[in-house]
Amino acid sequence: MKKILVANRGEIALRIMRSIKEMGISTVAIFSEADRNSPHVRYADEAICVGPAPSAESYLRADHIVEQAKALAVDGIHPGFGFLAENADFAEMVTAAGITFIGPKPHAIRVMGSKLAAKEAVKAYKIPMVPGTDHAISDPDEALKIAKSIDFPILIKASAGGGGKGMRVVEKASDLESQMNRAISEAESAFGDGSVFIEKYITGPRHIEIQILADQHGNVLHLFERECSVQRRHQKVIEEAPSAVLTPELRKAMGACAVDVARACDYIGAGTVEFLLDEHKNFYFLEMNTRLQVEHPVSEMITGIDLVKEQVKVARGEKLGFAQEELKINGHAIELRVYAEDPDNGFLPDIGTLSVYERPQGPGVRVDDGFEEGMDIPIYYDPMIAKLVVHAEDRIAAIAKMRRAISEYRITGVANTLQFGDFVMQHPAFISGDFDTHFVKKHFNTRKSEAIIEHDPAIEIAAYIAAKAISSNPLNSAATQGMQMETSESKSKSAWKNRRR
Ligand code: ADP
Repeated sequence: MKKILVANRGEIALRIMRSIKEMGISTVAIFSEADRNSPHVRYADEAICVGPAPSAESYLRADHIVEQAKALAVDGIHPGFGFLAENADFAEMVTAAGITFIGPKPHAIRVMGSKLAAKEAVKAYKIPMVPGTDHAISDPDEALKIAKSIDFPILIKASAGGGGKGMRVVEKASDLESQMNRAISEAESAFGDGSVFIEKYITGPRHIEIQILADQHGNVLHLFERECSVQRRHQKVIEEAPSAVLTPELRKAMGACAVDVARACDYIGAGTVEFLLDEHKNFYFLEMNTRLQVEHPVSEMITGIDLVKEQVKVARGEKLGFAQEELKINGHAIELRVYAEDPDNGFLPDIGTLSVYERPQGPGVRVDDGFEEGMDIPIYYDPMIAKLVVHAEDRIAAIAKMRRAISEYRITGVANTLQFGDFVMQHPAFISGDFDTHFVKKHFNTRKSEAIIEHDPAIEIAAYIAAKAISSNPLNSAATQGMQMETSESKSKSAWKNRRR
């Protein structure tokens, strides 16, 4: 490959282009009219405008992007995460145009894009599953029977769900029918697919995921785990590697299971197998994400492996250059997602101008971002400003380094998650490693954040941002009509995803 187009924007486009450049391959950026002056556009060797600000008219226009790539004689396309990254039709379109898609085969994307199809596909490998249904249900009587057999509380989930959306916890039988009807209609409107299923609601789980790498020659290995239990709205905000609670035996067992999941869908490239770990250290398969994840840097830092370079090498048909036994965990890494969100106001996204923007520096500190001082946070896309990642010799040193990096990071003009990150780093539960996915609810409990987590975040956030954009600049009101925010990770088929993560 001599020229790779990165079908994405902002920090992830930059992060991918950096590795591509180091490989001696030239880079093509795409941009919407809202991103014309963005650093990722200047960084690329070539850049093309793919349409107006709303992502449906620019970053999601698969056919247009492929046409432009052909015209520029591009020979590889990297989708990044979000937008078209988990869109099997896009992967097919790219391949049909004679361009290498830097990602898994469309079949793997399709199977793992549906939580139910994924469960079906991995059955033969005896992967531990959360108790519940393995098929779509719509009959409330059947739902009640299943719920009683696994015991309340239960979770109703959308098969096509992503980004923590389309889930409903049901505590008691009398709420089941109404919650199920709501879940079905939400799934239909958000994902265009009303299939829902039931899982036992694990009350205090940890979210542990395994990074996978697979080549086209049948080699599949794992790059250990990432702990992603600090979440708001079922979405990650702080991740670390390794997890504070995995024993070598458990790591080996989960790693082997993740490799089996990848084999079950003939996976190639970099992917992530997600699990829940209950308080007795039983683990259960949740889903597989068929792309690079936002939190991939923590795995890169503890293994010394550049995942983007590996993706490109695998796409070129090369064999993985290392075996499982050669991989070692070196030290500890923590990532804080620096979002333009207000933690004291239910983590609602904020917009505005980065009037001061100074990054932390020094040994062991990595900042992946796509912004500069003076830039506006656009209303159209994901509100992530940066990924702040630190690496140190052990967990305590990594926590101290994260606190030091946060203290150097200066952002004014938009609310952000830096101080929230500092709160977590100082919290005894985080320091001890004794926490689960309810950390935010349990320990960072504002009345507003609770209220928003309980309600439908899709509606509230879209309404909030639209109102804020209008009130801060009446001329902006036209821009908010048909506003589409893109999330960096959520599934491409979700309509919600077209608005925000
Ligand atoms: P999505 O694809 O929307 O991200 P996931 O299935 O990956 O959905 O789950 C996202 C988060 O939701 C998990 O990290 C966890 O916090 C919570 N979750 C999902 N399934 C369960 C469950 N059965 N019990 C408890 N929490 C769950």
